[in-house]
Amino acid sequence: MVEAIILRTWPVHEADQIVSFFTRDQGKLKGMAKSAAKSRRRFGGALEPMTHVLASYVEKPRQELVRLDACEILASPLSEPVDYGRAAALAFLAEVLEETLQDHDPQEAVFRLALTVLHETRTEQIWLPVTYFGLWMVRLMGWMPEIGRCTDCGRPFAGGPAYFEAERDGLVCAEHRHPAARALSPDSLKAAARMFREPIAALAVEEWPRNRAADLRRFAVQGLERHLEKRLRSAQALRGMG
Ligand SMILES: [Zn+2]
Repeated sequence: MVEAIILRTWPVHEADQIVSFFTRDQGKLKGMAKSAAKSRRRFGGALEPMTHVLASYVEKPRQELVRLDACEILASPLSEPVDYGRAAALAFLAEVLEETLQDHDPQEAVFRLALTVLHETRTEQIWLPVTYFGLWMVRLMGWMPEIGRCTDCGRPFAGGPAYFEAERDGLVCAEHRHPAARALSPDSLKAAARMFREPIAALAVEEWPRNRAADLRRFAVQGLERHLEKRLRSAQALRGMG
């Protein structure tokens, strides 16, 4: 049995499902779960995206799909209330992991990040987890230059705003911004620095309404989307929340 997080399932044949799951030790894997839709005993409720499970699987020679035999729930996102916002936030975590991770590429730090953020994603608290997770994923994938100074000239922002663009990584100063660049406010820059320094639980004692650090969230999502070369559907759903 290995520790894993369920990311996504696709129905195939009658009751079989292909399951994408992120294991702590082996990274992301895809497996065939035979009769998953019927077998409560082996999979009961455990294949919901972002369920933390103990998975039992067998690798088969020369086959891309492993055989997923059973999953035992360690923590289910459905054990707490799910409203539209929390569902959208959970979908964001799952989609970012699914799109970002390569198969068979262990990412222990990402695994730990996912579990802690998952734990903090509650019905009245989604904007901090989404922003924190997005920002950290950009960094853990190696796509985040230093955030305290201009990528072009190296000058620290020193309390002023920074700017970011869809086409390149990192932040620039007012002098080196392109006309289409968006601003990242000094408050959001401070929030970013804290997110890299403090555990999410320490930040979660504060209020994080939707408009707090919204520019930082956009910066993180834009960084992910640029490297993935695609739009994240879940990010669009989050943006659409009024
Ligand atoms: Zn500069």
